[in-house]
Amino acid sequence: MVGAGVVGLTCAVRLLEAGHRVDVVARDLPRETSSAVGAAFWYPYRALPQDRVTAWAATSYAVFDAIADTDPESGVRMVPGTQVFAGAAPEPWWAGAVPRLERTRDVPAGWGEGLRFTTPVADTSRYLDWLAGRVEAAGGTITRLNLGGLPTEGLVLNCSGLGARLLGSDRTVVPVRGQVVHVEQFGLDRWWLDEAGPTYVVPRAHDVVVGSSDVEGEWSRTPDPVATEDILERAARLVPAVRGARVLRHKVGLRPVRPAVRLERAGDVVHCYGHGGAGVTLSWGVADEVVALVERRPASARPSG
Ligand SMILES: Cc1cc2nc3c(=O)[nH]c(=O)nc-3n(C[C@H](O)[C@H](O)[C@H](O)COP(=O)(O)OP(=O)(O)OC[C@H]3O[C@@H](n4cnc5c(N)ncnc54)[C@H](O)[C@@H]3O)c2cc1C
Repeated sequence: MVGAGVVGLTCAVRLLEAGHRVDVVARDLPRETSSAVGAAFWYPYRALPQDRVTAWAATSYAVFDAIADTDPESGVRMVPGTQVFAGAAPEPWWAGAVPRLERTRDVPAGWGEGLRFTTPVADTSRYLDWLAGRVEAAGGTITRLNLGGLPTEGLVLNCSGLGARLLGSDRTVVPVRGQVVHVEQFGLDRWWLDEAGPTYVVPRAHDVVVGSSDVEGEWSRTPDPVATEDILERAARLVPAVRGARVLRHKVGLRPVRPAVRLERAGDVVHCYGHGGAGVTLSWGVADEVVALVERRPASARPSG
């Protein structure tokens, strides 16, 4: 299996649970991946198609909810919050994936209406280690290896994110650069989101993730001070206390955006990449489908007639 981001690790967990042997190889180990950068809150952003994304997101929501309930070591918590809109709040296309959505007028000055809902938030500084620990505890391995092409032996799972440009010869997956600023926790206990920007302020146990930016086709992973100013300024309009908060660190990641998530089997390769701004959000849903594809016999092995 190729890829040790949130998608690869989650697929590895589900495959091991189903009794398969799994050896993960990856150029970047979990903490070095784009998966380690985001606020990692559940929200279907820049991922298509809508019907499959809604189903995968719903499955993930339920799994994260159960993890938050039973395993505090995972770094996953259920956090209430509000998405704000300039005018009336529309019904989101993914509404079926969350148990409860509520319209509210309790929004900061400058916005018209909001949608309140509770979402899972995964603190990736703990969650990716927790997933990797589950892989290794179940007998899987994770090894650093920079591949020039997909392995040619055995059944291969391609969870290489942007790496699929090379490993899947797929130029339709493109980087959409996103920058975030981690600031000290200043007593925030709910998240705020405006899709414009996108702009969000997401509380974690020990800090607050403030985002973000959305630059298509940009590969640089160096934090940009002008973007930092812009992010903090936009976020402070949502949550004024951001303005005085001590900055802890800056992070940049590349969202693997594709016109549609690629989740399909082609011979002995199962491709699972292109989750855009929603890799965490979709992870448990896509992992179940990957297991089903791995267990499907290839067409040539099926009896005809
Ligand atoms: C700023 C920002 C905020 C975000 N916020 C959220 C959020 O709140 N919620 C959410 O759900 N999503 C969020 N995302 C999106 C999420 O991070 C991605 O969708 C997710 O990381 C994709 O996971 P992945 O495992 O497919 O890819 P990656 O994490 O990129 O992992 C790809 C893996 O493939 C390996 N690989 C690639 N090429 C090769 C090669 N040639 N040889 C060997 N290994 C290779 C890499 O080394 C890596 O291990 C955010 C992203 C950014 C940048």
